[in-house]
Amino acid sequence: MEKQKDFCYDTVEICRNCQGRGTVEINPVFGKKKTEICPICEGTGRVLKHVEGNITVVPYVTPKI
Ligand SMILES: [Zn+2]
Repeated sequence: MEKQKDFCYDTVEICRNCQGRGTVEINPVFGKKKTEICPICEGTGRVLKHVEGNITVVPYVTPKI
């Protein structure tokens, strides 16, 4: 018998783009180094990840040799 399970959850993670700092350094070809608010987390240093999917469970039949 096949069993299906849907799952969906939200998880808070450290922003990988800025490593949780909330700002990113920009190195322009000309001019000084600039620090800008991270566009991914908008300066919060964290992101909310929404995970959705389903798991299918089926019987495992041992292969015959
Ligand atoms: Zn960020």
